[in-house]
Amino acid sequence: MTDDSPDRPARSLDTVAVHAGRDAVEGAVTFPIFQSATFHSRASDTSYDAVRYARLSNTPSHDQLHEKLAAICGAEAALTASSGMAAIAATLLTLLEAGDHALVQRGVYGGTHAFATRELARLGVAVTLVDGADPASWEAARRPETKVFYAEAITNPLVEVTDLAAVVAFARRHGLKTVVDATFATPVNLRPLALGVDVEVHSATKYLAGHSDVIAGVAAGARDLVRAITARQNHFGGSLDPHACFLVERGLKTLALRVRRQNDNARALAEALAAHPAVRRVHYPGVGADNAVPTAMRAAYEGGGFGGVLSAEIAGGGEAAERLIATLELVTHAPSLGGVETLITRPATTTHVGLPRAEREALGVGDGLVRIACGIEGTADLVADVRQAADRATSPR
Ligand code: PLP
Repeated sequence: MTDDSPDRPARSLDTVAVHAGRDAVEGAVTFPIFQSATFHSRASDTSYDAVRYARLSNTPSHDQLHEKLAAICGAEAALTASSGMAAIAATLLTLLEAGDHALVQRGVYGGTHAFATRELARLGVAVTLVDGADPASWEAARRPETKVFYAEAITNPLVEVTDLAAVVAFARRHGLKTVVDATFATPVNLRPLALGVDVEVHSATKYLAGHSDVIAGVAAGARDLVRAITARQNHFGGSLDPHACFLVERGLKTLALRVRRQNDNARALAEALAAHPAVRRVHYPGVGADNAVPTAMRAAYEGGGFGGVLSAEIAGGGEAAERLIATLELVTHAPSLGGVETLITRPATTTHVGLPRAEREALGVGDGLVRIACGIEGTADLVADVRQAADRATSPR
């Protein structure tokens, strides 16, 4: 079932997420798992394109999921990968070759940072890290051989909204391709492709699949670009298994419902923590004067929120933050985000553990910073739990 009929108004994301994709098989209400590595060849077509083999991401399980993802992202086409990193790697290796240069937003996800600064460098691709919040600085970093601008829609763990309108304008002025990791923003809150971004990538492990039970990635964009990324991925081998396709597709059906609750939970927790004496500062877009959203992006976040992740600086530093974490009843101490259950981490001991203290603190990641990735629990329950833990963080009993 497709979404684009000229005879009726465009359907909401809620409806698209349930219905987009192929029609059911044999009357099955849900799309079945085609757990087959290979498929009969079509006698009439002897080209390589006609080969159906799971590594080529062209089985019915892939086709169904790709159609649904393209509809959700508002893309001509979408590709899945065996992880977010596989999607990011295949995309960058498609757009860049030896001798090229890329601008990469400073502070991107650690895996992406390592891939860009170590793996691409090994292949002869130069990378310059740029301050996503300072568009005036980008021009000086650009070179004649710059081909790509890579950014994250919302940064981790300080949850800053990147001015993607400025990124797209800069890239268009200089003929660069833009790749945006929209994992934290989600397609419910933001449509990067509608802003003019060339490729939208996701760790589908997070909100898209939504249940912390599968590792997957997505790249979405124009058909010719996605075809080129698919050709690269076919060689590197990072395709998604059919059973994992099923799990992602099942998760997508409730994406809009889940993300709206996660938006609400994060905002409510951010407001509650901002007013708590144990908290020095809260990071969540739009909460308090410290967390302004770039003007050009206010209208772009149309889904009613900025996702389920917030962070907070606990006044008593690392020890108080650890006490808060240990006192929580509903919130699990674990990395990742986007699942139905709320998770908490202390970035100084997880994502940023490899950085020298001074460098980490210069990035705004102090010992007392905790990152909370909201699930879909009842808002009042979550606020009550985090509040009681914050009460005890700085005044242990
Ligand atoms: N992008 C972001 C923003 C992430 O947070 C992550 C993982 O945490 C990734 C990409 C990589 O995704 P995956 O773990 O699915 O490879």
